[in-house]
Amino acid sequence: MKSQQFEQYGEALVSHQYEIPVPKGEEVLIKISACGVCHSDVHVWEGHFDLGEGKKVDLKGNHQLPFTLGHEIAGEVIALGETANKAIVGNNYVVYPWIGCGQCPLCEKGEEHLCNRPRAIGVTVDGGFSEYVIVPSGRYLYELGKLPASLACTYACSGVTAYSAVNKVKSLVRGRELLIVGAGGVGLSALSMAKALLNCKVIVADIDQTKRELALQEGADIVIDPNDRDEVYKLRKSLKGGVAAAVDFVGSDRSLGFGMKMLNKGGTILVVGLFGGSLPLSVPMLPLKAITISGSFVGSTQDMKEMMELVHAGKINPIKITQRPLSQAHQTLKDLQQGKVVGRVVLTPGENS
Ligand SMILES: [Zn+2]
Ligand SMILES: [Zn+2]
Repeated sequence: MKSQQFEQYGEALVSHQYEIPVPKGEEVLIKISACGVCHSDVHVWEGHFDLGEGKKVDLKGNHQLPFTLGHEIAGEVIALGETANKAIVGNNYVVYPWIGCGQCPLCEKGEEHLCNRPRAIGVTVDGGFSEYVIVPSGRYLYELGKLPASLACTYACSGVTAYSAVNKVKSLVRGRELLIVGAGGVGLSALSMAKALLNCKVIVADIDQTKRELALQEGADIVIDPNDRDEVYKLRKSLKGGVAAAVDFVGSDRSLGFGMKMLNKGGTILVVGLFGGSLPLSVPMLPLKAITISGSFVGSTQDMKEMMELVHAGKINPIKITQRPLSQAHQTLKDLQQGKVVGRVVLTPGENS
């Protein structure tokens, strides 16, 4: 099988040829038909997260090199380990990639995605920039049904991340406003889910005009350029103080600063994006404005189950997908790094890879 891998962090991905792996025990082998390319792939490839002020979380040494990225995987089960569920062979699934150790208190609580000893596919173990991948158990698979694989794969990361965040602010925004900061792939998924699930006005902020226009087409009630001071001032005035909740899908000092500024008293901001940075915090503003700052990382298997039910019920608008052959994995990482991707790029290993 062909796998697009990096041999050193930050260096060009190269195509390697391997034997097709053989599943053991509960494991299943997936023939990959689609794998989305996500900003987290860029971080793992670069080997660090930026904490701001020159500090970084070093991811180097966490991977066996060469490494295969790709955690948004959909495909067909074509082989099983001895103890795997026989009924799933030949069917098409989306793979839940945020797999934990299965033994710690977080995993036992159903929060494998927060496990401190993760086995996350494409993040800590080899992933989907490849023709085949091994999944530890059939219980991490979610049926495709009538969904195209190129769309369905994106639910494993951008979809479940967006759903988990939207679900967390659900009770806070009823009849009020939600601010989405950042209209990239995850932000647009969240917009679609917010329109489907929440009874509130949705405002989308992005510095890029093309992305703001796309957000309007996808149903945003209001769009705003956070750098346009006059417009921001007018919007805050019209909101009589600010929004009830904000979700920051960028995760930079500027985006969080903007989101916090837009919160009304008693508001909550949830940080999801991992762009990087740090900002000084006026500590008395927390009690004086009674605001809550929290974080949300991908989503649980329960989130994945609930979200896929909504998707199958036709309640979530499909996001814009661009398909590319597997051989364009490296170019796609570079395009994402430079902010050139609108919607989601999905690699299709089955076709001209
Ligand atoms: Zn991702
Ligand atoms: Zn665990």
